[in-house]
Amino acid sequence: MSDCLRIRWTIVPRDCPRPVLPCPTCGGDRPYHPSGKIRLNANGKRLDAWLIYKCDDCDRTWNRPIFERRLAADIPPAELAALRSADPAFARRLAFDLAPLRRKTSVILQADGVDVEKAVLAGNAGATTVEILLAVPHPTGLRLDRLLSIELGCARGRIAKLADDGRLIAGAGDTALRRPPRNDQTVRLRLAGVGDGRAIIDAASGRPRGRRITSVDR
Ligand SMILES: [Zn+2]
Repeated sequence: MSDCLRIRWTIVPRDCPRPVLPCPTCGGDRPYHPSGKIRLNANGKRLDAWLIYKCDDCDRTWNRPIFERRLAADIPPAELAALRSADPAFARRLAFDLAPLRRKTSVILQADGVDVEKAVLAGNAGATTVEILLAVPHPTGLRLDRLLSIELGCARGRIAKLADDGRLIAGAGDTALRRPPRNDQTVRLRLAGVGDGRAIIDAASGRPRGRRITSVDR
């Protein structure tokens, strides 16, 4: 019988990355945030598309090119429909694409507020080992040790101690905890004989504290 509870955490950042760019109105560098709007211009058979950002301080807009002078016929229909309707989910996905932002500025602010959706994948009620599979669809600036501290209800020092004791393994090397979580990264916790192990397991699986896991097979 497996003594391992497998849980997936999906990490969803609350705020999009904010590029720092010169603002002509403010007269200095300012962070810009995505407005959620998309602009699409037609030039004959060719299209230009931009994601619209606004200066944090004065609302002046900056148009980030999504593409320029592209043949309408070359754009996948689903993408074109999303651009035409300024689909919010599509705009949000673009806003998290850091590569085009990095070509415009070396300074990008990434807030570390996240929502974490927890789902038990497999395991048994009395498991003392927990495997947390991290799903990170969008990059976040939050360090892994802070994420674990918040979500497991432990101080960051306690997380470090669990790692030092070999009870928490977050990947090769000792720097994984100081870096943001990566997609498909696994955090393994061995909590047999740990006094507050049950509370940590309950927190990891998203169960209210004090309630025991009764059934996790699904
Ligand atoms: Zn401004």
